[in-house]
Parts: sequence; C-alpha cells; structure tokens
Amino acid sequence: MKSLAILGSTGSIGQSALAVVDAYPDRLRAAALAAGDNATLLAEQVRRYCPEIVGMATTDAADRLKTCLAEAPGEGGRARAGREVRTVYGPEGLLAVATHPSVDIVICASSGTAGLEAVIAAIEHGKTVALANKEVLVMAGQLVTDAARRHGVAILPVDSEHNAIHQCLHGRNHTEIKRLILTASGGPFRQFSADALDTVDAAAALQHPTWRMGRKITIDSATLMNKGLEVIEAHWLFGVSAEQIDVVIHPQSIVHSLVELIDGSIIAQLGITDMRLPIQYACSYPDRWDARSLPTLDLLRAGHLDFHAPARDRFPCLDLAYRALRTGGTLPVVLNAANEVAVEHFLDGKLGFTAIPRVIQETMDAHDVEKVTTVDVVRRVDRWSRECARHRAQALELNA
Ligand code: MG
Repeated sequence: MKSLAILGSTGSIGQSALAVVDAYPDRLRAAALAAGDNATLLAEQVRRYCPEIVGMATTDAADRLKTCLAEAPGEGGRARAGREVRTVYGPEGLLAVATHPSVDIVICASSGTAGLEAVIAAIEHGKTVALANKEVLVMAGQLVTDAARRHGVAILPVDSEHNAIHQCLHGRNHTEIKRLILTASGGPFRQFSADALDTVDAAAALQHPTWRMGRKITIDSATLMNKGLEVIEAHWLFGVSAEQIDVVIHPQSIVHSLVELIDGSIIAQLGITDMRLPIQYACSYPDRWDARSLPTLDLLRAGHLDFHAPARDRFPCLDLAYRALRTGGTLPVVLNAANEVAVEHFLDGKLGFTAIPRVIQETMDAHDVEKVTTVDVVRRVDRWSRECARHRAQALELNA
C-alpha cells in the first residue's frame, strides 16, 4: 500500500489522481490532501478518503472547510482513532501536508508557483515526487534536481509528454539519447492566420481540441507557451540540452512524445488522452498495474497520425522559452511569471491574444539575469517580473 499526498486535490489533475486511488483501493491511499480555495469539494474528499491531514491556502478557507465538516462530517470528517482530521493552512500548512510522516509519494498538482517550497521540503524528507506542476522545474530546476540527487529521491513526471519520455527511456543509458521530441496538439488556433490571431478571445482559446484541462494551461496550449515550459521541464528532468529537445505538432495527441536514439531509432509512447494514465504510471513505477478503469487506445479508430513543424512566427512563446532555457539563470523565472500575468489579463478580456508574447518578451528584455542560488532569489525575481509584466500589460491593454 502506497500513501499519497495530493497537493491541489480539487483541481483537474488532483481529481484524476483521486480517480486512480478509486481504481486501486488495495494499493493506494490518499493520506494527505491540500487545496486552494474550494472548501466544499475538499470537504467531500475528506468524507470520502479519510485523510490524516488536509490543508487549504488561507485561514479563511480552512475555517470554511471546518464548518462544512462540522455540519456533515461523514466517515472521514469524524474522529479517526479519537482525533479529528488535522486541518492546516497557508504555505506552512502545505509543507506539513507534503512532509507528513505517513506519505510515500507527493503528487504536486497545485497550480502556479505555490508548490515550490513544498516540493523541496518533500524531497528533503525523502518522499518520491510525482510532478504535474511544471512551474516548479521551470523556476527552480537546478535547486530541485540538486536536492533530489542529494537525497536520492526520484522525480517522476506526470505531465503526459515527460511521462511518455520517461517510459521511452526506462532502462536506457543516457549516452544513447540523440534528442527528445515533445508532441504538441497545436491548440485551437493552429491554422489561424496572424491577423485572425489578433481578434481571438478567451472563450475561443478555452476550447482545447483534445485535452480537458484547467483554464491557465489551456491558454498556454493555445499560445504554445505550454510546450515552451515543457521544453525547460524536459531539460531538468532528463539532463539534456536545449539543442537536444525538439517540438512537433501532432494534432491527434495520441503519440504523447518520442525519443530519438543515436542509431536513428525513434521510440514513442502512445495512449489515450487521459491524465489517469500518467498518474497511475507514477504511482506504480517501477511496476505496471493492469488498467482497471481506463479504456485502451484503439489504433484502428485513431486512424492516421499527423506531424507538422510548429509555426514559430505565429506562436513566438515557444522561442521565448528556448531563449530562457539557453540563457538560464533567472530568465526562466521571468518567462513563467510574465506569462502568468499576461494570461490573467487575457482571461479578464483586458489583453489581446498576440499581446501575450509581447508582454513576456518586454519583461525578459528588461531583466538583468542572475544565478539561481536559493529559493529566495527565485521568489524575489518572480515578484519583480510580475510587477514589470503588469505595467507592460497595462500599456498594451485593449482600448487603452
Ligand atoms: Mg503536457
């Protein structure tokens, strides 16, 4: 039996992780859960999964959770061995959830940058980390991978592309890798002209053709920034240079990613578009479990598989990410923070779609790159970047 901590249990990935727990009640247990603001859903999860500890982002949210559980405690909200479920909140609460003594695997699926300190603390406590949050590696890849090496801890990717590459590389020598090929669906605007991209709005961008995901990552898919962040993530996870990582557009999202070996062979992982599959792999690794609740991929129904080069001119976010990776230091922190601010403005209807990469580029241009030596440096540059990006976004605001 493996015990899980799920950071971000009420989000899209977190709910998929709990669905995996449902499928393997004899092998997995949700021992610790953390959520942002959704107290109602977290209370439901507490009643159902009986965790030992639960965390919320704020004291206000934690109070709402306690109220929900007092009104309808259910099995999980009532006393476990004479004690109530322990409720914590804030950044310290997230650390307590991630480092809880009974936890074996920490699934980090919290959105944005909140999970960084919790992931590092989990590593220092010897927990296996299943990483669904790419910001952690984009912002602090060096710090996180150094800590994992020091503590002999595995970081297992849950992001479908990296999970695919992890599967392709399993048992293979690093010197056999020629390049990694990340696939991208291309998003809803893949075939739009530059002029058409100028007029798209948030509602159109939120219609992802193949994956069902959270709002922020869906916009990142439409701009190709999601793939750019994944290029940086791949660099840290697999120890390869920017030159060894390529991106191809694959609209069917059936080939989740590929590895080209030095002899010219290309190994690919194919599967259905369902996050339960990579989550299950991370939970079962190094073993494999039979797919109890998941449909299998029907190749005949899948039909043909297409591959195209990404349109780097119409989707400049991809090359901004390559620039951040090649430059290194704090530039990926700036890329990530400026992107979050620009996407927020876009979702609020204040910024045009094509202004997103402009905000990011202008913020990157304004930054003096430094080395990432501590989490404090990351936090300071993250704050500076958000402030800077907010000013750039306001200057580019629609109807300004
Ligand atoms: Mg992905």
